[in-house]
Order: sequence, then C-alpha cells, then structure tokens
Amino acid sequence: MSAADRRNDAEIRAEWARVRGRLRAEFGEATYRSWLKPLTLKDVDGGCVSVSVPTRFVRDWVAQNYADRITAVWNQLNTDVRRIEVVVDATRPSEDRTLPKTGAAVKSAVEAEDAPPPAPAEDRNAFSGPLDPRFTFKNFVVGKPNEFAHAAARRVAEADKVSFNPLFLYGGVGLGKTHLMHAIAWHLRMREPNRRVIYLSAEKFMYQFIRALRFKDTMAFKEQFRSVDVLMIDDVQFISGKESTQEEFFHTFNTLVDQNRQVIISADKSPSDLEGMEERLRSRLGWGLVADIHPTTYELRLGILDSKSEQLGAAIPRKVMEFLAHRITSNVRELEGALNRIVAHATLVGRDISLEMTQEVLHDLLRATDRRVTIEEIQKRVAEHYNIRLSDMHSARRARAVARPRQVAMYLAKQLTTRSLPEIGRKFGGRDHTTVMHAVKKVEELRSLDASFGDDVELLRRMLEN
Ligand code: ADP
Ligand code: MG
Repeated sequence: MSAADRRNDAEIRAEWARVRGRLRAEFGEATYRSWLKPLTLKDVDGGCVSVSVPTRFVRDWVAQNYADRITAVWNQLNTDVRRIEVVVDATRPSEDRTLPKTGAAVKSAVEAEDAPPPAPAEDRNAFSGPLDPRFTFKNFVVGKPNEFAHAAARRVAEADKVSFNPLFLYGGVGLGKTHLMHAIAWHLRMREPNRRVIYLSAEKFMYQFIRALRFKDTMAFKEQFRSVDVLMIDDVQFISGKESTQEEFFHTFNTLVDQNRQVIISADKSPSDLEGMEERLRSRLGWGLVADIHPTTYELRLGILDSKSEQLGAAIPRKVMEFLAHRITSNVRELEGALNRIVAHATLVGRDISLEMTQEVLHDLLRATDRRVTIEEIQKRVAEHYNIRLSDMHSARRARAVARPRQVAMYLAKQLTTRSLPEIGRKFGGRDHTTVMHAVKKVEELRSLDASFGDDVELLRRMLEN
C-alpha cells in the first residue's frame, strides 16, 4: 500500500465514522443498533462504497430502507461517493453482531426496541426510479424565476393533507423540474417513511406498462400504482402520441386523485400546450396547481454558482463567477457543467482559476453562445454606434453614411450568427444574398486598409459578444 493509499484509506474511514454518527442522530438509537451498526466498511472503488453485513436478510433490508440515505449523507461529505453496495460477508465473526441470525428473530428484536416500523420491503419503491442524492431542497437555489414552483413543491412535501391535485410543474430543459421532484421525494422519505412514494419518468412508466402487457401481468401493474400515496411522473410529454399508455395513465391518475392521493407531474410545456395528448387528459392535468419555472436570470445564475462552488469547495474569483453568469445563460445544467469543467481543469493541472483560464477551458462552449446573438441586436447596436436610425438597416437609401454601417451590420451578422446569406439579406429589407456577400467582402477589405475602421468593427464585435 502506498503512502497516498494509506492516507486515502484513513480519510475514508474518518468519513465513514462521521456518516455513522449522522445516521445515528437521524434514525435514533434503536434503528441504529439494529441495522446500521452491523455495517462494516469493506471497500471504496471510484464512486461506489461497499459495506458488508452478516446476513442476506439484513442486506436486503438495509438496501431497501437505508442505502439511499447512507449514500446521500456520505455524498454531502464527499461528492465523489455516488452509490453504496451492500454485500453479505458470511465469514464475519459474530462478536460485532447485535443481530440474531434469522429474519424472524431480527424483526422481533427491532419491534422490541420500538423502532419505527418500516413499510414491508415488497411494496416499497418497486417501480420507483433512483433518486439523485444531490437533488434536495437544501441544494435548490431559489430566485424569482422558480420561487413559485419551489413554494408549491415545498407545500406538497410538507402538507399533511392534499391541497392541490395534481401539482403540475413545467418549464424548459435544465431548469430544475427533476431536482424539485426528487427533493419532494427525499423529504417524504425522510419525514414520512411510511408513505409510499413512487417517482419515475413517463418513459419508465410506459416501459413498465408495455412489459406488464407482454407478460399478461397488468393486474399487478395496476395494483402497484394504484396503491401508492404519492405518485410522481417526470417528463410526461414523453407519452404524447402514445395512446394506450395515455389511457392507462389517465385511469391511474383518476383513481389516485379520486382517492385523494397526491399526484405530481412535470412536463416541458403547460397542460394546454401539450400536443399529442388527449383532450380529457390535458384538461385533467390542469385541474390542480400549475406552476411554471421561468428561464434563469443573471441574479439566479450567480446564486447557483455561489452555492455550487461552495459545495465543490472551490475558491473561484468573483470576476469569473460574474463572467459565467453573464455568458452561460441557456440553463442550469450547462452552467453547472461549465463550473465543473473549470474546477476539474484547475485541479488536474494545478492551476488557479482565472478569467483567462476560464475562457480557454470553455472555449467551445463560449463560441456556441456567441452565436446566439440575434441579427436584430446587431442592427440595433450598429445603428446606435454610427448614430443612424434603426429603420435605415432595412431602407433602400444608398448614401454612404447609412450604407456603410448597414454593411458592417451584415458583416457582423455573418460572423456572429449561424444565419445563411439569403436569411441575412431578408432581415435587411429583403436584400439579395449577393448584396450580403458583397458587404462582407467590402468590410474585410476596408478593415485591412483603414485601421480606425478596423478598430470600430472590432469594438462592435466585442460589445455584441459580451
Ligand atoms: P429539468 O428536469 O428541468 O430538465 P434538472 O432538475 O435536471 O432540470 O436540473 C438540471 C441541473 O441543474 C441539475 O443538476 C440541478 O441540480 C440543477 N439545478 C436546476 N435548478 C437549480 C436551482 N435552482 N438550484 C440549484 N441547482 C439547480
Ligand atoms: Mg428532468
């Protein structure tokens, strides 16, 4: 074992001790002694930690009931840890075991110690998808664009009674819908372990349904879904145009709502905009509370960067944060990706994070966002710069004072957007593509002949890129 390995090993053991301490505080002494104390740390391999237990029964029980929480707690200490594996170690000596050998005896030991009765293992989460340990309310940064959706999600997670049904969350990709749904599920799992919660994507729902049809097992399928307390279906737009799945979903949905069970749905569009969905389903989806998540604002992006860099334990200069918040505007997933990349780069090559380094590392990403400048913006900036009217960008006037700026705008449109020459021509009062081509050539020529003209164009380009 090398020195590095040894140090690593010591660190892992220290983390494990802390994880156990937290679990003990969280679950109480009885549960801890029965189920968590017998766990022995075996191995850490990449993001997977394996722990061993004395019997298969304990393994199944721990895997079903505690593994997610152990992973989540550990992940908070060390974000590398993603998964926990529970294995049986038959060779273990029995002295460190507080548990009798057989399942029945184990059960009564727990009852005697007055542990909260966990739900029967068979009907817990049979269909439920895995939950991401990072997607908790604690890690969700609230700002204007998502405050309503966040408040609604919290309300549903905390309420004793069903107040609005369904809760329908919608918004563009990467804006936090899945995060909020997992947060609700985590919250319920921790606070009300006896409520049966199923979270799954609409795709998985469909898959399970088709499988049930194939194996002629639709009764069991229906039973599973219709006996839950909280059903969450993510990305419901997936079943657009899939008629029989919609039909089944509609019945499941109605049954649950009629029984006053909570249903939570997410989609990329509002119920009324969901094309390919049956009318009765669309209207039913909009009956409860519909909450949308808007695109991020600069303030929210900055807040998210603050929170994520703290989680990563990375010191990032203010200027870099502001730069990222300005430039990576598409969605939170991309913003996170950009941050992870610069932090990973800094760690790997042992460099400090600076603005130059950020620009270098995110080169491709930034170039892609550069292209998101619109022709309208270019026309507006250029008109302002040369002090001409915006309408002159489209007019037929050929006086040099307006024709030259118009050519500059066409040139920049070609450089900074992905529009084709004919498309650009159309935006400039329906000009022909050869006119645009001529403008591009002309500006290039002038740039090399006239330095101050070149500086002007360069300045405009920089302003538009930022
Ligand atoms: P969606 O399901 O809407 O496509 P996700 O919930 O998967 O989006 O979010 C994409 C990523 O962005 C996730 O890693 C998530 O944690 C993160 N994220 C989104 N919104 C926020 C927020 N308000 N605070 C913190 N992280 C967020
Ligand atoms: Mg999602």
